[in-house]
Parts: sequence; structure tokens; C-alpha cells
Amino acid sequence: MENKLGPERNVLLSLKGVHKEFNGFVAVNRIDLDVYEGEFLCFLGPSGCGKTTTLRMIAGLETPTDGEIYLKGQRITHMPPQQRNIGFVFQNYALFWHMTVYDNLAFGLRIRRLSPKEIDRRIREVAERFELTDVLRKKATYLDLSSMQRVALARAILIEPYLLLLDEPLNNIRPGLRELMRADLKRMQRDLGCTMIYVTHDQEEAMTLGDRILVMNEGRVEQIGSPLEIYQQPVNLFVAGFIGRPPMNLIPVQYEVTAEQAWVVWKGYRWSVNSVKEQVEKSKPERGLVLGIRPEHVRLSPEGLGIPALVEVVQPLGRKDILVLKIEDTLLQAVVYGGAKVREGAIIWVEVPLRDAHLFSADTGRAVAHGIG
Ligand code: ATP
Repeated sequence: MENKLGPERNVLLSLKGVHKEFNGFVAVNRIDLDVYEGEFLCFLGPSGCGKTTTLRMIAGLETPTDGEIYLKGQRITHMPPQQRNIGFVFQNYALFWHMTVYDNLAFGLRIRRLSPKEIDRRIREVAERFELTDVLRKKATYLDLSSMQRVALARAILIEPYLLLLDEPLNNIRPGLRELMRADLKRMQRDLGCTMIYVTHDQEEAMTLGDRILVMNEGRVEQIGSPLEIYQQPVNLFVAGFIGRPPMNLIPVQYEVTAEQAWVVWKGYRWSVNSVKEQVEKSKPERGLVLGIRPEHVRLSPEGLGIPALVEVVQPLGRKDILVLKIEDTLLQAVVYGGAKVREGAIIWVEVPLRDAHLFSADTGRAVAHGIG
């Protein structure tokens, strides 16, 4: 199945005003969401922001306090989990450890009363695809982590769910193997063309896996978009600061208009923002603006040009260095590539290219403009 989100994409799952409170505490705050057939959607957000609770409501393991959930146009808000045709894989895989891989895989199919012959046919087929043929007779408890994950996924896929939910399935896996399994998962999702929602608090994981990412914070949806959209056009200060490592530099600036010319002003430096004057004025910037610039966009400039900065820290990372720079009392991070040979304690000169900069309202935190000039 074509995995790209084309114009004639079908909505598989819809959340309408889905809300969840636990004893008055709002865990999920009126979420609206459409998930499209064949897409890989990642839920990304800090710990406790409501990702798992949202997933559990989709699975039917939790009932919304308010709002409705639709799967293939059918309202499923109160439907029991086993009737939803939604598969899920949790962090601990929840395998039956004393059973063989074969019996783990057969479990859901036996519940659905398929014939032993059909069950066997399906298991052989999926085992081949997931490279599990050699371990079918092994007890689950003796598997390595990668095989456990593949069994958990195979078991979820065997019931041919409309939708597969994964809650941090790679969380306990050592770095190195984790990246391999991630790549495996992406390939498998493409090959099968299935629709997946994948919960993670690891942005690298979300950026590499997701066709789209839903950024959550404090029970709310902050932004839904492709990884590139979220990186290039964060809708607010939360998303701007949350996405990207090291994080975007966020600098409070003043807004001034002199003789019809619009400027942002910071510590005696001024940048013309005429090209986005209309957007800025619409945002009523009485309380000022926040200028955002990603560390990878800060440029080193020849001595005497730009802004002088004291190099506080150099963090070498192989092909690139992360610099912590001090400009008067403000710290700014910059990423420089290719052995720029910057020394700690040195004074260097930097430039903030406005075409890569973002402006946010200091009042509401909302984005006002991306790329100036
Ligand atoms: P994590 O990444 O840490 O798993 P999360 O984003 O998945 O976090 P949730 O597990 O959905 O967040 O929890 C959201 C909020 O709801 C948290 O503050 C959590 O303590 C609270 N919460 C979740 N389940 C319950 C429950 N059964 N009873 C009370 N509070 C709960």
C-alpha cells in the first residue's frame, strides 16, 4: 500500500473532543485528531503529558470522560477493546512467557475461532516475514529482546487489526540494537502498509519514524505535522523549545517602528523585520517578541563583523562541535561543523541569519513568523 499521505487519503480513526480526567485531574484535554489509513503517526511529548492515556482510550482500556472516538466511521467510544480490531504492543511486550512463540502467535487467532489449519498457515507466513521460523517452538522467556519485539508485533499484526498501537516498545532496549529495531519497524510498517500510532518521548525516534508527529504537552495537542513542518514551523514556544537538540535559542527582543521601518532590537543590535511587519503587528506585540534561532543556524562571521561572543564551552561531537557562547548576560548555543577550531575562552563573532529565524509573541507564545526577509 502507498504510504505517503496523498490528497485522497482516508480517515481511519477520529478523536473528537476526547477528554480524560482522573479525580478532577485533566490528563487529556479535549483532543481532536484524524489518523489516516497507512500512516505512521508518533505521539511525542514529555513524561506525563497524556500520551499513554490517549492511546489507552483508543484501545478501549480507558473510557473518555467526554468526547467521541470513531474507527472507520463507526463510533467506538464505549466498545470493549476486543471488539475494536485494534492491536497493541506495550513496552514490556506482555507475552505469555511460559508458552512457545507458536502458541503466543496462535492465541488471538484461537480466540477468534479460526481453524487450526488456517491458524497454522497464517503463523508460518508471518514467522517467515518476521524471521521467527527458527524460534517458533522456543518458549518466549528464552528469546532475545529483538525476537521478543518481533513476536509481540507479529502477534498484534496476525489479528489483522485496522490499527496498531505501540507504547514505547523500544524503551528498554540498549542503544545500537534500538536503532536497528527502529529501522526494522519502519520497513515493516511500509511493507505491510498498516496504520500505526507510536508513543514515544524520544524525539529522534519520532522524527525518524513518523510520517506525522503529534506533539503533546499537559494533555493538549500543541501541533500535528510532518517532522519537517514541526522542525521548520513550530507553532509556539513549547514546540520550538522541545523539538531539536540542542534546543532552539529563544531570545526576548523588543519591537520598534521608526519612520515606517519595523525592527527587532536586542542589546543595541537591530534587525529589520519589514518583510513580516504585518504579521508582527497583527500579533499586537506590546509585551515584545521572542526571536528563535536554532544552534545549527547560528553562523560564525569574520572578526569584527556581527556580534562578539565569549566561548564558554566547546563540546566536541566528532564531525561537529556544540558551542556555548556568552553575549553579555545571555547564553547562546551554536553548532559548528568541520573542525572550526574554536577555543574555550576565545572571543568569536557570530551572525544570526534572519531567514532562518523565527518570531514568537512574548505574550501568547504563538509563532508570528518563520524566516524573515
Ligand atoms: P509517560 O511518558 O511518563 O508514560 P504519558 O505522556 O504517557 O507519560 P500518561 O501516562 O498518559 O502520560 O499520564 C498523564 C497524566 O495522567 C499523568 O499525570 C498521570 O499521572 C495521570 N494518570 C494516568 N493514569 C492515571 C490513573 N489511572 N489515575 C490517576 N492518574 C493517572
